[in-house]
Amino acid sequence: MTDTNFVRPGREPLAQVPGPGQRFVVAGGETFSDTDPTTQERVATVRSSTPSDVDEAVQRAAHAFTTARWRNDGAVRARVLFHYAERLRADRDRLAELLTREQGKTISEARSEILGSAEMVEYYAGLARAVYGRSIALGDDAHGVVVREPVGVVAVVTPWNWPLTLLVRSLAPALAAGNACVVKPASLTPAITVEGLELLASDPELPEGILTCVLGPGDVVGAALVSHPAVDMVAFTGESTTGIDVMRRAADDLRKVALELGGKSPNIVFADAKLDKALDGAVNAIFTTSGQICTAGSRLLVEAPVYDEFVGRLVERAQALRMGDPLDPATTLAPLVSAAQQRTVLEYVDIGRKEGSLLTDTDVPVEGILERANFVAPAVIADLPTDSRVVQEEVFGPVLTVHSFSDEAEAVRLAEDTPFGLAAGLWTSDLDRAWRIGRALRAGTVWINTYHHFYAEAEVGGFRRSGLGRQQGIEGLFEFTETKHLNFDSKATLWCAPAPISPARWRW
Ligand code: NAD
Repeated sequence: MTDTNFVRPGREPLAQVPGPGQRFVVAGGETFSDTDPTTQERVATVRSSTPSDVDEAVQRAAHAFTTARWRNDGAVRARVLFHYAERLRADRDRLAELLTREQGKTISEARSEILGSAEMVEYYAGLARAVYGRSIALGDDAHGVVVREPVGVVAVVTPWNWPLTLLVRSLAPALAAGNACVVKPASLTPAITVEGLELLASDPELPEGILTCVLGPGDVVGAALVSHPAVDMVAFTGESTTGIDVMRRAADDLRKVALELGGKSPNIVFADAKLDKALDGAVNAIFTTSGQICTAGSRLLVEAPVYDEFVGRLVERAQALRMGDPLDPATTLAPLVSAAQQRTVLEYVDIGRKEGSLLTDTDVPVEGILERANFVAPAVIADLPTDSRVVQEEVFGPVLTVHSFSDEAEAVRLAEDTPFGLAAGLWTSDLDRAWRIGRALRAGTVWINTYHHFYAEAEVGGFRRSGLGRQQGIEGLFEFTETKHLNFDSKATLWCAPAPISPARWRW
């Protein structure tokens, strides 16, 4: 069992995990510390799961999947998910504070994450009663019914940057479709995950075992989970290299995978765009979650005639971001999630400084307790060769590379010049151009005259190294189903027919 305790010196503990009834967490191994990235104080002590805990969690899920009414009763699934959405909304403030304390993001972003998660759950609650198949007339005496069925036991493995939204984005459709789920959160954000899941797991209508959770390091606990023979599908969100490893492990038993991976998204500004709006969009594209977001618009491409003016204004806006305590609503740039992430990002800034021109001041103007925070000042870097690691690799921090282009063809060529294909932004007043370039870019989402707007009903996902499969929308529900053809045919089979059957009506 887990004995995660939230400790905030000088204050009452934020929460206690597990509380009564938190049997959905299966963890009996060593403990590890969960640290506040702003103050470096301990937020929680978390008990890890062992490989045998992983086995127990999966066996509980497998048993529940085969024995509970859950997979055949969309009405119960809808009720449970609607109820969960309500409880997330009602608990928004407590969860948002915990999210900020554990992950470091600003409190306003944390609140929108909780509300966005509630909306996602609500959307799939509605779809839980609409997991439709179709029927096909196959001649006078035959009929086919294609039904959609849940896949079985789904392992949901999640990252730390948007820990609740990215969890429910897979969990809610998986449950809506009738699966049983075993969740494995990132080790940097176990507390918000367990507290968020508790609101679902304690629902009296959720059958025992349909939701279990394991905690601990990815290379041990995550690897044991995605390799477990009783897991039928892995829904993984994380880095591309980890996703490839997950897919290799899943291949051993040919289990299904849905992979939402990294990105290096281009944000393209044409001279005919509404430049004030494009500037707001460019700031939002890279500095949301301090750049720790898979869809970060981390490569800004600006048409040559407006390049100098646009980049100059962008640098001013970047320098005006306010680093501070993320619990303070006035803070606009939060610390990075961990000291390790801070080191990695600063290494990229150093490469950028050596290979290109760093246009921003990298001082971190904070003092007192905030000096211990994992801040990285916004870095805007120009004049980089296109094969620089800073241009090609996902940095996952507030680091923006800027490039100029002279025409549409060059814009598309630069935009496509990385191995990723998660998202892109496009700013122009020319509708024909928006259509042409929107179609030319190989990315799962192309935002036109906007950036970072997500909707539960609109799918997201990656081309190329950014992933496999789609999440959100109806596609996100279907990822967690298998189809089956039930064939009703009164004709004699080919081999037993008393007289030859016309080839056109053969039924193999
Ligand atoms: P990560 O790949 O390090 O870890 C993701 C999850 O996988 C964690 O729970 C981790 O413990 C687990 N894990 C690690 N090794 C594993 C293994 N061998 N087997 C099974 N599980 C394993 O990613 P992260 O650092 O937590 O998150 C940042 C990354 O996630 C970035 O690359 C970002 O682009 C990506 N991401 C993608 C999306 C998307 O929708 N495409 C969304 C958010 C984040």
